[in-house]
Amino acid sequence: MEKDSTKKDKPYQTVRGMHDILPKDEDYWRSIWEIGNEISEIHDFNFIETPILEAVGLFEEGIGEATDIVEKEMFSFKTKGREIVVLRPEGTAPIMRSYIQHHLGHFSSPLKVFYWGPMFRYERPQSGRYRQFHQWGFEVIGEADPFYDVQIMLVTLNFLKALGIKGLKIKINTVGCRVCRPTYRKRLVQYYRTQKRNICKDCIRRYEKNPLRLLDCTVRECKEIREGAPIILDYLCQACNSHFKEVLGLIEDNEIEYEPDPHLVRGLDYYSKTVFEVVLPKNADRALAGGGRYDYLGEVLGGRTIPAVGVSLGLERIIEYIKEKEIDPKRKKKPSVFFVVVGEEAKKKGLCLINKLRLSNIKVLESVGKQSLKNQLKIANKTKSKLSLILGQRECFEETVMIRNMKTGVQETVPTENIVEETKKRLR
Ligand SMILES: [Zn+2]
Ligand SMILES: [Zn+2]
Repeated sequence: MEKDSTKKDKPYQTVRGMHDILPKDEDYWRSIWEIGNEISEIHDFNFIETPILEAVGLFEEGIGEATDIVEKEMFSFKTKGREIVVLRPEGTAPIMRSYIQHHLGHFSSPLKVFYWGPMFRYERPQSGRYRQFHQWGFEVIGEADPFYDVQIMLVTLNFLKALGIKGLKIKINTVGCRVCRPTYRKRLVQYYRTQKRNICKDCIRRYEKNPLRLLDCTVRECKEIREGAPIILDYLCQACNSHFKEVLGLIEDNEIEYEPDPHLVRGLDYYSKTVFEVVLPKNADRALAGGGRYDYLGEVLGGRTIPAVGVSLGLERIIEYIKEKEIDPKRKKKPSVFFVVVGEEAKKKGLCLINKLRLSNIKVLESVGKQSLKNQLKIANKTKSKLSLILGQRECFEETVMIRNMKTGVQETVPTENIVEETKKRLR
């Protein structure tokens, strides 16, 4: 028997770990876009967008092969052309790729850019973690000055403050450089050698491949062992030491609340010197943003030193927090008018008039169907529109429109040719 292909046993669902952003959350997302764009402009960051697909090597080399992201969280696949590509797990390596590819350093020094969009990590989906999630990022490429380390923190804090989030704190550390990090790493390995029997399985792997990440483990036993581990501050070279001090000085000058965290390392290998996270009041484990300096990434990807510093903000987490704290997303909304049409003739004429109003920058709502006048007015009430413009059979014939003030109920008839001016006058 032939199966009816139009009927399905089960309607399609989102792919595991993926989620839809629905209209009910519009205010949250749009306030992020709107405030984010405004903040970027004020701080003089320009827009950049890189493709979602990149060559797999970009991240293997850029982020580091021994990181969790590259080892187990890459969303990679072979294309029909037998290229191995990956859905980008983060935004910084692609931007550095773009910087080198298009010689962006020639056009501005430093280059200050912002981006936003979906990122992908093949993680086990658990509460609040998605395989596709969104980040907003800022990058300053081409400068080593601590001025920019702190500017990156400031733009992040200003963004979150503008969204209505209060009491934010910076957790900060340095991860040193090529000169001083190897000595520290050796010390760290020495320390953990004696603890190998007590650390978790992941940490044993980290011990072999990426010892700095030992400090990052969230398992309780490992955290206890960490307390006795040597800290990098005792091993910094002079350049890293003075860079870190300058950063802290500027943080204090700007009255940023901060807390040095000698165990902060972050999950990407490209960081050098400054690393930081923006954490919430009373919940230092939940970072809303994280970033740092990545002076070696340019060299890894393009063969020359390009100092840079950046940050990325986790938008799903930010929205989750805003909802939890019942923070008003504070979107400035345009006042609207509701256009009511009664009858076939009015519907036809109505579309032209609605378009005329919209061309004049008036926000028009409508609910055209088989609705009665009464029902349409009911809907208009729910939308909190200031005015309703009513077009019925008589108005069509007389070439007029009735304007109803939804608050007072007062109705006035105006000629259709004056519809824009008459509406604007009443919206003021
Ligand atoms: Zn150093
Ligand atoms: Zn561990």
